[in-house]
Amino acid sequence: MTRHFNFCSGPATLPTAVLERARDEMLDYQGRGLSVMEMSHRSDTFIDIAERAEADFRQLMGVPDNYSVLFMQGGATQQFACVPLNLLGAGGSGSYLDTGIWSQKALKEGRHLATASVAASAEDNGYTAAPAPRAILPASDAAYLHYCDNETIGGLQMDRVPEADLPLVCDMSSSILSKSVDVSKFGVIYAGAQKNIGPAGITVVIVRDDLLERARADTPTMLNWKAFADEGSMLNTPATYAWYLAGLVFDWLGEQGGVAAIERLNRRKAAKLYDAIDASGFYRNPIAAANRSLTNVPFVLHDASLNATFLEESEAAGLLTLKGHRSVGGMRASIYNAMPEEGVDRLVDFMGDFERRYG
Ligand SMILES: *Cc1c(COP(=O)(O)O)cnc(C)c1O
Repeated sequence: MTRHFNFCSGPATLPTAVLERARDEMLDYQGRGLSVMEMSHRSDTFIDIAERAEADFRQLMGVPDNYSVLFMQGGATQQFACVPLNLLGAGGSGSYLDTGIWSQKALKEGRHLATASVAASAEDNGYTAAPAPRAILPASDAAYLHYCDNETIGGLQMDRVPEADLPLVCDMSSSILSKSVDVSKFGVIYAGAQKNIGPAGITVVIVRDDLLERARADTPTMLNWKAFADEGSMLNTPATYAWYLAGLVFDWLGEQGGVAAIERLNRRKAAKLYDAIDASGFYRNPIAAANRSLTNVPFVLHDASLNATFLEESEAAGLLTLKGHRSVGGMRASIYNAMPEEGVDRLVDFMGDFERRYG
């Protein structure tokens, strides 16, 4: 058996130790004689798995007691709809920072379901730097300010939490648990699991409890945060196996020393890769230094006609899924928590070798 280094943006690589534990527990979960996949979500055993995952997540993130943690489905994309539905019950509009493709998708859904406008955009700088704090001007009737902490496709990451006199709503799909965050600054944080939490199928939502009272009356029950909070995220059958695997990832992250420790490692991994890009005349990343993503590193080759060769040779070297998003072109290396430093070292070595041969 060989496990290659997988740089996919999502579903992304998982810690090998987590997959091994899932394998060992798959047929017979801790002597119960059945798999977690086959268990009632109402059974004591599964309730225990679910509660432990939530408690571990709360501890890792430092979630204050006046916040609910929800385990939903539908991905981060479903939360683009949940945000206006759950926060605009008393009217008003949604205000959005535009820092790239995922922000724009959230904004589009905001406009589809309610009134939404742009508080500030990175369009002026070609989406290479976050909007300046003083440029952030939410509409006067705005009920929340939405932003994306880390644009997974463009590789643009916010270098600070925006200041606004409004509940902040943050899409942290590709950066959650990769760095320390002060949850108390936020009204709502949400993240699809398949980048830094576990397999696809589950979406974690952190909501400050006072915001659970603001849903529009026409909000479908399955999109209603309060309904999920009231029922311990078990309004219907949750994604039980994905929830269990997320719990194994939280355990693993605790064993690595928690978020502060993994952040130090992530910073070292990212610095190695950006330094290699900057030191070469062959590769380029256009993002302003302060806004370079810790987890998603896009780069282009100076000669785009070498892209196919780069991808073929990198795959052959056991470095998988480096192709960039079609809207950006070039390459993208996603280096979430589960990517070992050795994977980044191998990539940097490969890039240097490729440049020597083709540069
Ligand atoms: C992947 C991603 C999404 C979409 O997630 P789904 O779970 O596929 O809906 C949204 N926002 C960001 C920042 C992402 O990285």
